[in-house]
Amino acid sequence: MKIADIRAWALSSDLAEPFAFSQGWVRRRAATIVEVVTDEGLSGWGEALCQGLQPPEIAAATVRSALRPMLIGADASRPEVLWHRMYNQSRDYGLKGAVIGAIGAVDIALWDLLGKSLGRPVHALLGGAFRERVQAYATGFYRVRGRGEGRRLAEEAQRHLAAGFRAMKVKLGFGVDDDLAVMREVRAALAGEPVTLMIDTNHAYGVADAIRLGRALEDCALRWYEEPVAQEDLAGYREVRNAVGCPIAGGENEFTLFGFRELIGARAVDVVQPDIAAAGGFTACRHIAALAHAHGVAVNPHVWGSAIGQAASLHLIAALPVAHPSLFADEPILEYDQSSHPFRRELVARPLAHESGWVAIPNEPGLGIEVNREVLAKYAVPA
Ligand code: CA
Repeated sequence: MKIADIRAWALSSDLAEPFAFSQGWVRRRAATIVEVVTDEGLSGWGEALCQGLQPPEIAAATVRSALRPMLIGADASRPEVLWHRMYNQSRDYGLKGAVIGAIGAVDIALWDLLGKSLGRPVHALLGGAFRERVQAYATGFYRVRGRGEGRRLAEEAQRHLAAGFRAMKVKLGFGVDDDLAVMREVRAALAGEPVTLMIDTNHAYGVADAIRLGRALEDCALRWYEEPVAQEDLAGYREVRNAVGCPIAGGENEFTLFGFRELIGARAVDVVQPDIAAAGGFTACRHIAALAHAHGVAVNPHVWGSAIGQAASLHLIAALPVAHPSLFADEPILEYDQSSHPFRRELVARPLAHESGWVAIPNEPGLGIEVNREVLAKYAVPA
């Protein structure tokens, strides 16, 4: 099973209604999709996440210009070996960011291929599934004006509750006072309901404001407080973690075993959140999961990609052990983003769906998806 071709698509779609997170306005959805084709005509699919406002062309160019020439003719059935080849040969210009996203996209496609060639789901190749379904949490609460949207966000919380979600993550980072006003309204709307809350500021604050926010919300029993400070401020993370009672999470903007070694080694977080389509694919996430497990740190993947990234995340989550085993251990939960995204709905035959807030782990060979090539062509940015 030799690699005959590697293709990349940069996808982009303008949003009818832009929305904001703490770092800016999202005006379009974008994704970098990768197909690895074997000499036997089998196709595997992967994705490089467009993290934040990342343009999809960067990872696509990396795949076409750097990774494709490294891998043409290689044995496709050795994803670990090829991951190291791609990482080592891009070390002097890679290590983090879109280059690692591109490596991860190829890696995801190789695992998809391996599963298809063996007739097994990817989670079986990773050592087996710990779970057959995963609880989904609603990520949403984006802003459409900016500040002062507490009432609208409280109504959104009630919609998620009515849809069956029992866990929700609220986007904050719009100023501590506005954040606290939003949380007051959201909590009032959910009063008496068995809902677990998380917050995510997308590293909007320095240490002082991050601590002020965390302390003011100490009675919320947050499952986690995500990205309180910038990802490179590991000492700041540790200060926040030491000052605030709830678990601290981060890592959606960290990459590979080596990046997570720093984050975990600094005792900066209680929960690491590698995104499989950013951090380096299945191969890198296996390394990261083992490292986290050895340090008593929970792994709860970040999921913000297209239908391909979502499918890959489900296989990864299926194969993750819990960090702290007990009768009532915290299982990993699935980030289920509620924002508008045509590449989630249209790209595959059966898009992700939840039932009363739970999502089934796929059992078909590979990732278990069928990609619609007409949708790729429809949204592709010309190379
Ligand atoms: Ca986040």
